[in-house]
Amino acid sequence: MVDIKKRHADLVKRLKTYSRQYYIFDDPSVTDAEYDALYNELLALEKEYPELCSDNSPSQKVGAKVSKEFKKVEHTEKMLSLENAYNEDDIAAFIERTKKLCGIDNIELVLEPKFDGLSAAIVYKNGILVQASTRGDGSIGEDITANVMTINNVPKKIANTSERFEVRGEVVMLKADFQKLNEERAQTGEKLFANPRNAAAGSLRQLDANITKNRNLTFFAYAVYSDDVSLSTQMDVLNTLKSLGFVVSSRIKLCKNQNEAYVFYKEMERNRASLEYDIDGVVYKTNDLSLQKKMGFSAKFPRHSIAYKFPAEKAQTTVLDIVVQVGRTGNITPVAELMPVTVGGVVVSRATLHNKDELQKRDIRVGDKVIIQRAGDVIPQVLYPIVEERNADSKPFEFPTVCPCCGSKLVKEEKEVAIKCINLNCHAQLVERLIHFASKPAFNIDGLGDQNIRFLFDNGIIKSPTDLFYLEQKNSEIHLENNDGWGKQSVENLFKSINNSRTISLDRFIYALGVPQIGKAVSKLVAKFFGTYSAFFECVKELNGAILLEINGIGQSIVDDFNNFFANETNMAVVKELAGDGHSQGIILVTDVERQKSDILSGKTIVFTGSLSNFSRDEAKEMAEKYGAKVASSVSSKTSIVVAGENAGSKLSQAEKLGISVISEEEFLNLIRSA
Ligand code: NAD
Repeated sequence: MVDIKKRHADLVKRLKTYSRQYYIFDDPSVTDAEYDALYNELLALEKEYPELCSDNSPSQKVGAKVSKEFKKVEHTEKMLSLENAYNEDDIAAFIERTKKLCGIDNIELVLEPKFDGLSAAIVYKNGILVQASTRGDGSIGEDITANVMTINNVPKKIANTSERFEVRGEVVMLKADFQKLNEERAQTGEKLFANPRNAAAGSLRQLDANITKNRNLTFFAYAVYSDDVSLSTQMDVLNTLKSLGFVVSSRIKLCKNQNEAYVFYKEMERNRASLEYDIDGVVYKTNDLSLQKKMGFSAKFPRHSIAYKFPAEKAQTTVLDIVVQVGRTGNITPVAELMPVTVGGVVVSRATLHNKDELQKRDIRVGDKVIIQRAGDVIPQVLYPIVEERNADSKPFEFPTVCPCCGSKLVKEEKEVAIKCINLNCHAQLVERLIHFASKPAFNIDGLGDQNIRFLFDNGIIKSPTDLFYLEQKNSEIHLENNDGWGKQSVENLFKSINNSRTISLDRFIYALGVPQIGKAVSKLVAKFFGTYSAFFECVKELNGAILLEINGIGQSIVDDFNNFFANETNMAVVKELAGDGHSQGIILVTDVERQKSDILSGKTIVFTGSLSNFSRDEAKEMAEKYGAKVASSVSSKTSIVVAGENAGSKLSQAEKLGISVISEEEFLNLIRSA
């Protein structure tokens, strides 16, 4: 049982981390199929050992807590998830349960596509759009009114003047828009979105609604919440939405029984690839709204509906080669070059093999016939080789021991899965770092795509980011415009763009440096925390990354990467040369961003006692005060919290006597992180 408990706790922890990355940062670190496998393992464990299932388990939670960057919106009716069905038996059980709960023999079902996007609730008051929010954790969503206002097919006014009329539906990115967006991002060296769902989420959940506006999102409506309209069935809901100007899927079917539903489900599965948008199943809904109400909800799902998921899209192909790539941070990623094959309407010719461990575990070899999968994801994965069809002379792939670019010995760092090239001067990494530095979310230098950077680097014209800012000066000797593919105009435009990038906000600057794990979302958090370049510089100079633990969502592993990065003299020299040392100026100007204020401890009086292991008393006091608390030196009835370190003495017993909340140093840190 100890092992089972441990496995359960491990699953809960991992699923929570993945959910945060998926829902809050729109940047999943595992595929949906991997997430679902862990989630299903959790469900199976909790079924066998119900005592393991607490309110805190991911099996009882919808989505994730909302990001602090958005204003919060409380939902009047909870926005829930959907229970999943994977086969006809699950559907039969759902129909039986529905009949039983409703006390009737025949159930009408409405079948709708299960859009692969993110849900949004849009509120109209007297016919005017006044508020839009994400699902968030089901009770509290994020305010995305300004963003939704930029979606063309969302009516801003409707011919229903009820005092409150709430429409729910899914925001998606059409496949064509997704393809276009990723092509643009590839050209500017930005990270590609893994699939249309992540692109839709990343585009909608933007603090700057202008970004959403440029991303071409589409809204499909499927539910209404209003006291004022007389709707009795789900079909009425969809027709009413249509008549009010909302876009509703044309692929809807009212079914009288399971067989009829199955025919429609199979038809949708067949046509899935030719739809303009991604779907990952068919939603079965009880048509009668009064029955829907009668059935109610579980903690996570409405009982009246179920999502019948499609099996992941799979195909067979051959591995032509396995190559290893060196990334910006030195991570070595094996990639399978495949015989091109169409999966879910998309031609796939490469698939990531993740890392050495994964590759060896799956024992995928050059020449193997393999099954690949696009589980709603655009980045395909190799599932397994067909071992029976393997050539007799095939050999396991030999993972290189030296970097394919610079020849340095590859290393595997403790606790990391990735094998790394740790030579910071490795050309492959230097080029990837320059590409990152010039990319749109960083210095946004137009005209410096991958190819041009490679050209400049390979010809010894630029070696480090700072060289970019001397390029124009240098051009009187090198005459870039005389090279193939450059031209006078494009060189002039490039210099203009470099000059425009000489003023940059702190968040973009931090992102551009390319510290491992500090992507766009995290760099925004870090920038808001410091506000000014000089505050940021002060921290990196002292290698005081631990202070970042005060930011919700930042843990020790980011702090370690942060400190390691700035402990490197070359990196520090680049920072100083670019932006100065906080006193003297550099070659660019980093502008301030608004500091995040937090007052989670406002009005509280805190007493620290015992010895603290993470920080000194003064640091603890400063931190508590930053979050709005008063710090006192003795315990009285006015004390709100006592933070007890090791060997706490009389203050602790006094607190216990007075019934004052006592927390550990770790709990205090967690409290601050949750701010
Ligand atoms: P879900 O997305 O599978 O199903 C519920 C949602 O379906 C609803 O909230 C609604 O937004 C949507 N929906 C689409 N069409 C609908 C329609 N016609 N009517 C009603 N609702 C409709 O469930 P979920 O709880 O949001 O997320 C679970 C999914 O997210 C899983 O597939 C999981 O793989 C993925 N996930 C992945 C990661 C990762 O790291 N890769 C992390 C967390 C979750």
